[in-house]
Amino acid sequence: RQALRDDQFRKSRFIMGISHDLRTPIALIKGYAEAISDGTIDDTEMLKSSLEIICQKSQQLDDMIEDLLNFVKLNTQEWNKHVEVRSVYPLLEDCFHRLQSDGILLQRRITGSIDIPQSTLIATDEKLFIRVLENLTGNALRYTEQNGIIDFSACIHENQLCISVFDTGIGISQEDLPYIFDLFYRGTNSRREKGSGLGLAVVKSILESFRWDIEVFSQKGSGSCFVVQIPLVRGELP
Ligand code: ADP
Repeated sequence: RQALRDDQFRKSRFIMGISHDLRTPIALIKGYAEAISDGTIDDTEMLKSSLEIICQKSQQLDDMIEDLLNFVKLNTQEWNKHVEVRSVYPLLEDCFHRLQSDGILLQRRITGSIDIPQSTLIATDEKLFIRVLENLTGNALRYTEQNGIIDFSACIHENQLCISVFDTGIGISQEDLPYIFDLFYRGTNSRREKGSGLGLAVVKSILESFRWDIEVFSQKGSGSCFVVQIPLVRGELP
């Protein structure tokens, strides 16, 4: 009975958290749209910047809903159906290239290397795998200041593929570290950044569904390093 009650409590907290998080961008979109339609905002510059905010907030809503759907799908095991053995090199290469162009745009220095044979195989769902990499690299970009370094590297160690995302950003305090993978948990370092506290919960659900490991090393003020370990699949693709 206690377990049921705990489950119920978690579900209610989940729904309350989501409703609260979705309301914030909606309130802003509504506010700006009303101000434009009733003429409060009338000069061209202000109109332009208000429309930009509306676009930004709509994108944020879109991202949050996407995260949420992924999270729910993961927890109902729906996504595990697409697991296949595939070559991981091109996926890592794509992610590295995307990170490099984001780095140019946001003025972060990107380093790293994909130090694995082109023929390396893992069993995964492509979309989920990309989701993990995007969340980790996205966080590294968001929590690192301009001119900071983000390193994306892959190597093989003891029959495992090791992917590390390292940054010289603001780091995570020791008090926050045990909770960063919890649903809706936002660290004390995150106040200046927009976010929902869903990203790492999504990462953890994906990793757990594959039984993959993740380790985090971080120090406040110095940076963070997330390392994912994935078992290799032997053999060759047909
Ligand atoms: P969000 O970033 O939306 O708050 P996440 O679930 O992605 O949610 O991350 C949870 C928390 O972990 C963040 O609020 C932040 O405190 C911390 N965090 C995650 N990645 C990093 C990073 N690379 N550097 C510093 N802090 C991080």
